[in-house]
Amino acid sequence: MSVQVVSAAAAAKVPEVDLKDLSPSEAEPQLGLTTASVGAMVPPAGGGDPEAPAPAAERPPAPGPGSGPAAALSPAAGKVPQASAMKRSDPHHQHQRHRDGGEALVSPDGTVTEAPRTVKKQIQFADQKQEFNKRPTKIGRRSLSRSISQSSTDSYSSAASYTDSSDDETSPRDKQQKNSKGSSDFCVKNIKQAEFGRREIEIAEQEMPALMALRKRAQGEKPLAGAKIVGCTHITAQTAVLMETLGALGAQCRWAACNIYSTLNEVAAALAESGFPVFAWKGESEDDFWWCIDRCVNVEGWQPNMILDDGGDLTHWIYKKYPNMFKKIKGIVEESVTGVHRLYQLSKAGKLCVPAMNVNDSVTKQKFDNLYCCRESILDGLKRTTDMMFGGKQVVVCGYGEVGKGCCAALKAMGSIVYVTEIDPICALQACMDGFRLVKLNEVIRQVDIVITCTGNKNVVTREHLDRMKNSCIVCNMGHSNTEIDVASLRTPELTWERVRSQVDHVIWPDGKRIVLLAEGRLLNLSCSTVPTFVLSITATTQALALIELYNAPEGRYKQDVYLLPKKMDEYVASLHLPTFDAHLTELTDEQAKYLGLNKNGPFKPNYYRY
Ligand code: NAD
Repeated sequence: MSVQVVSAAAAAKVPEVDLKDLSPSEAEPQLGLTTASVGAMVPPAGGGDPEAPAPAAERPPAPGPGSGPAAALSPAAGKVPQASAMKRSDPHHQHQRHRDGGEALVSPDGTVTEAPRTVKKQIQFADQKQEFNKRPTKIGRRSLSRSISQSSTDSYSSAASYTDSSDDETSPRDKQQKNSKGSSDFCVKNIKQAEFGRREIEIAEQEMPALMALRKRAQGEKPLAGAKIVGCTHITAQTAVLMETLGALGAQCRWAACNIYSTLNEVAAALAESGFPVFAWKGESEDDFWWCIDRCVNVEGWQPNMILDDGGDLTHWIYKKYPNMFKKIKGIVEESVTGVHRLYQLSKAGKLCVPAMNVNDSVTKQKFDNLYCCRESILDGLKRTTDMMFGGKQVVVCGYGEVGKGCCAALKAMGSIVYVTEIDPICALQACMDGFRLVKLNEVIRQVDIVITCTGNKNVVTREHLDRMKNSCIVCNMGHSNTEIDVASLRTPELTWERVRSQVDHVIWPDGKRIVLLAEGRLLNLSCSTVPTFVLSITATTQALALIELYNAPEGRYKQDVYLLPKKMDEYVASLHLPTFDAHLTELTDEQAKYLGLNKNGPFKPNYYRY
C-alpha cells in the first residue's frame, strides 16, 4: 500500500518509488545511476521490492549506513567542489528566465477555453489558425507577432541577446545555415552567435551543481541511452545545461521554445553548433512557433519516446497531429501549472494515453522556485527599472502565498515598511505572525510608495485604486498573469502614457499625478530582471530525474495517469544541492529511525507534509 497525496495536486498519484543504491563515493554526491532506473537507485526499505513499497510507518529499519541520498551528504561527500566557490567570470552577463506561458485551458476535445493572458497564452493552436503552407510573408510574420502584443517584444528586452543584430530582418526559416560539422538540422537566428552562447552556458553551469554532478556520474552509465526526448521549454542558458546533461546521460534531444520571446538566440546557436537540433529564436511569430514544434517531431527516421514540456503545447501538438506517436512514447514530464492542468483534463477525459509526471507540484519546485526565486528577484526588478531606494518606503504586497512571502521578506530586509493583503485567514495569520500589518488595499492605497500583486487572481488592483494612489506610486505584478492589475482601465483618453524606459511607463492623470507602471502589469521579475540560476537548477534536476524515472520504470509502475515525483526523488534533488553550501545533514541513528518509523535513507516525510 502506498501513501496517497492529499494536498498539492490532489488528483496526482504518487507511487512509492525507491531510489537505487547509492554507495557513498569519496568525491562526489551519489547519483545512483548504476542501473537504468533511477527509480531503483536506492534500495527499497529493508531490501524489499521497490514496486511494492510500504508506507513510512510500516517500514522496517534501514539497510545500513552509507547508502542513499543522505549518505551522499556524509562528510566524505562534502568533498564535492563547491559551486559557490566558482565565481562568475563576467557579472555583466545576465540570464533571463521566462516560464509558464499562460493559463489558456484546453477542454477535453483540445479547444482553448480561456482567454489568453500573457504572451504565450495569446498563441492559438495552429490548427485553429493557419497551416504552414500558408506562411505569411516576412511583413506578415512581423505584423502577426506585433498583433500578439504591441509591446511584448520589448517587455522581454532585458533578455535581449547582446549579440542580436536588429538589422537582421531575415527570418531564420529563410536562411540556409550549417554548423561547423556541416549539419543543418536546426533553425536558429544566427549560428555565428554560438561562441557567445557557449559562454552563457558555461556561466550557468557554475550555478547548476546537481546537473553537473549527474553528468559526471553519467560518464560511466547512461540511464537515458536510447531515449529520444522532444522538448519544448524556454531556451535559456539554464535549459541548455539541462539539455546537455540529458545528452550526457545518453538521450537524443530535439528542442523548440515554449515562448515566442524568451529564446536567447546565442544560446540556441551554441546548442545547434554542438549538434542539438534546436528550432527557436526570439520573436517567433505564431506560425513560426508551431512550425518549430513540428520540425522537432515530424522527422524522417526519428521518433520521440519521451516528452519534456512546459505549457503543454508540444503535448497538444502531438495529440492533434501525430497521435500514433504515443504508441512509442513512454511518458511526459510537464513543468508548468498550465501544462499540468491540461494533463489532468486529458486524464479526466480518459484521453491520456501515457504516464505523465507533474513536476510543477514537486516540493522542490514549488517551495524553492516560487519563494526563493521571488525573494531574490523582486528587488532586482524594482531597482533596475526605477533605481529606487527601499529603506523606509511603504509597500503593500497583495497575496501572502509563496511568492508574496518571498517579496515581503526581501523588502522587509531592506528596511521597507510592508503591508500585506490576503483573502485567506491562514495566510493572513502567517503574515501577522511574520510581523506584517494585514490591511485592506483601500486602507493604505493613498499612502504607499509601491504596490505589488502576487495573488494569481484578477483585478486585485482596480482603476479605483489606481485613481487614489499618490503621485509617483510604483505599481507592479509578480503573479503569473497580467490580469492582477487592471491595466486596460488605464487606457482611457484622459490619461497620458509616457514610456520613460524600457518596461517603465508613466501614466499621467489630468492633474499631473503620475503612477509608475512596470512591465505593463506583466511578471516583473521575468520581464525586468534576472532570476537565480541556482533555483532553476533545482527545477531542472527535478525534470531530469523525472525523465529518467519514467523512461526506466518497469512496466506497470506508472499507468496512464498524472503522477507527482516520488517524495524520495524530491529529497534527492534537494540533497544534491546541499554540498554547495557545505551543509552537513544529520543522519538518523538506528534507534531514532525505529522510533520515528522511518527508513534512514528517506523518505523523511509523508506525502501530505507541507514543509
Ligand atoms: P499561492 O496560491 O501560494 O499564493 C497566492 C495568495 O494570494 C494566496 O494566499 C491567496 O489566498 C491570495 N489571494 C488570492 N486573491 C487575493 C486577493 N484578491 N487579495 C489578496 N490576496 C489574494 O501562489 P504563489 O505560489 O504565491 O504564486 C502566486 C502567483 O505568482 C501565481 O500566479 C504564480 O503562478 C506566480 N508565480 C510567479 C513567480 C515569479 O517568478 N514571479 C514564481 C512562481 C509563481
